[in-house]
Amino acid sequence: MNPIDQLTAIRGTRARTVLISGASIAGPALAYWLNRYGYAVTVVEKAAAPRSGGYPIDVRGTALDVVRRMGLLPRLRDAHIDLRRLTFLEGDGTEVTSLHPHSVTGGVAGRDLEVRRGDLTDALYTAVREDVEFLFDDSIDTLEHCEHGVDVTFRGGGGRTFDLVIGADGMHSHTRQLLFGPEEPFHHYLGYCFAVFTMRNTFGLSHETVMWNSPGRAAALYAAGDDDEVHAFLNFARPEPPLHAFRDPQAQRALLAEVFADTGWEVPGMLAAARDAQDLFFDAVGQIRMPHWSDGRVALVGDAAYAPSFLTGQGTSLALVGAYMLARSLADRDHATGLAAYERDTRAFVTANQQLVGAGGATLFPTTAQALRQRNDRLRGLGAMPSSDGKPAHSALTLPEPARLA
Ligand SMILES: Cc1cc2nc3c(=O)[nH]c(=O)nc-3n(C[C@H](O)[C@H](O)[C@H](O)COP(=O)(O)OP(=O)(O)OC[C@H]3O[C@@H](n4cnc5c(N)ncnc54)[C@H](O)[C@@H]3O)c2cc1C
Repeated sequence: MNPIDQLTAIRGTRARTVLISGASIAGPALAYWLNRYGYAVTVVEKAAAPRSGGYPIDVRGTALDVVRRMGLLPRLRDAHIDLRRLTFLEGDGTEVTSLHPHSVTGGVAGRDLEVRRGDLTDALYTAVREDVEFLFDDSIDTLEHCEHGVDVTFRGGGGRTFDLVIGADGMHSHTRQLLFGPEEPFHHYLGYCFAVFTMRNTFGLSHETVMWNSPGRAAALYAAGDDDEVHAFLNFARPEPPLHAFRDPQAQRALLAEVFADTGWEVPGMLAAARDAQDLFFDAVGQIRMPHWSDGRVALVGDAAYAPSFLTGQGTSLALVGAYMLARSLADRDHATGLAAYERDTRAFVTANQQLVGAGGATLFPTTAQALRQRNDRLRGLGAMPSSDGKPAHSALTLPEPARLA
């Protein structure tokens, strides 16, 4: 008997079954809420375990209510990175200005959270691992609607039928591809590529970020604490996405070396570290924008449906809020009404947050000398104290109460 059959035997009635593809942020958050609403949940993840790497992430505004309602807020508060300073450097390494990070991000001190990505994925996974079936090292091969569900075959072999299938498998979602076709029409490239990886903290940095810019190029070192490691970040402008590099780590390293060849500051050391890094994460800066997030009994959540790009700093918050809203919409309704409600009630929040890109995100990475001078003048004028209200888009949705089921 598989875990879903066991659950059915225990409950007497057949629970609605759902397969979620992706065990990062959106996937486990959705699993948590759907399990609470009586669904029998299976999560399939192509990696061998939840993937912990990546740059620290922000949880802000409405998303804080999601983690609070999941009982994770105390744990995440303990994991909060108290970033104290953000220093900008000119191309020659001299200082432009040093600010509180919230002056730039719109975060609110004492309320918003910034945590290591792995701390959040770990907290989410721990919250559901006992109640949900996880299939690691596997992924969906095919899916096909049948009379009362979706027939799924797995790459690892075998097939099953689920009442619902949800793609929480990130910006380059395989589920989206199976359902709606290639990524191109939905991917809005924002003109940059970025790489993140960890390297040794030989700089004496602590609780701070230092960012170097020259036109079209940026490099940053982010010390989340007093650790031996820093998060390194390289970002560069590129009119067309370098398609050849996305699936080829060696091509990514070669491209970084070419783009940052004649730079100063700590960039040559960062390039050397990127060559050896085991955790290099490279991607285009872009947004996923879709006219619909579901078709029949298959839906998308998080980056798979509406990646906002790191320029907004809202990818994780949208994934958490989207997961909550999707589960809430499906809690006490049939799938067609539920999926329509998910989209109707969540889209305005998603759009407001995706539009933050137009409200300044990209101006952190100017592509001309003149635009860089103007940005630096603006940063010098920001003052040392952060604003206390945050950006309205971060809190532009009030969560409905969790469903109370009989
Ligand atoms: C290892 C890693 C590092 C990251 N680092 C950064 C970063 O430094 N900066 C940044 O801005 N964003 C980063 N992200 C993206 C960030 O986590 C998301 O923008 C955001 O948190 C939304 O989460 P999500 O759950 O929707 O998507 P994601 O976090 O992208 O998670 C998607 C999950 O689906 C899994 N998956 C993908 N394809 C399949 C498949 N075919 N079958 C089964 N599972 C699949 C992936 O392994 C992953 O676990 C990273 C993501 C990952 C996976």
